[in-house]
Amino acid sequence: MSDGDTFDVLNIQENILRGVYSYGFEKPSVIQKKSIPLIMEGKDVIAQAQSGTGKTGAFVIGSLCRINIEDNSSQILIITPTRELADQIYNFVEQICNYTEITYLKVVGGSSVSECMYDLKKSPHVLIGTPGRILDMIQKGCLYTENIKTLIFDEADEILSYGFKDSIYNIVSTIPKTTQICLFSATMPDEIVELTNKFMNNPEKVLVKKEELT
Ligand code: ADP
Repeated sequence: MSDGDTFDVLNIQENILRGVYSYGFEKPSVIQKKSIPLIMEGKDVIAQAQSGTGKTGAFVIGSLCRINIEDNSSQILIITPTRELADQIYNFVEQICNYTEITYLKVVGGSSVSECMYDLKKSPHVLIGTPGRILDMIQKGCLYTENIKTLIFDEADEILSYGFKDSIYNIVSTIPKTTQICLFSATMPDEIVELTNKFMNNPEKVLVKKEELT
């Protein structure tokens, strides 16, 4: 945030920008400034940054800009290691989408399976969830991945350290080859490098050290 640019320079759609400003953000953090344009362009992105640097803001704002509102299908899939993180991301998405027609749903373990199946029938634009329940819903034929434009892994190192590797590989195998994949992680252990080499298409790399957020 050194040169004082506001979010206006990032070409974010008006109705999403309104949500960003009313949430109270004024200027993008470094990771946001670097990765939002790449996500908006549809590039695969590997972003390494510690928590508290604004990663959630980066992938949520960037990916929301990719949604085609005319298309009533699930287009953004955000995978996180825990229900708590899914809650946080969901709440943030809800606020940022306040002035849009974008629809969103949480797909997490520990909630009613039948309710989840029912809610998925409406094909919300944005799905936020944990690997086990997401894979279960895909395998039950309730979560359609054909139109997923952007797949995001939040805290990818945690996802793998919690033993979700097989689920992740199974999920990715159902996603179209053309889907943009964005991976956010605090560390880059070998397992993540292996995952990125296997599934990502010429990814752009963004590395950010911990910075103070105003
Ligand atoms: P991470 O996902 O890297 O842990 P978050 O996106 O959750 O980081 O952001 C950490 C904190 O900083 C949150 O309280 C968030 O609201 C705040 N924050 C993020 N981006 C900005 C910004 N551009 N301006 C002001 N506050 C921000």
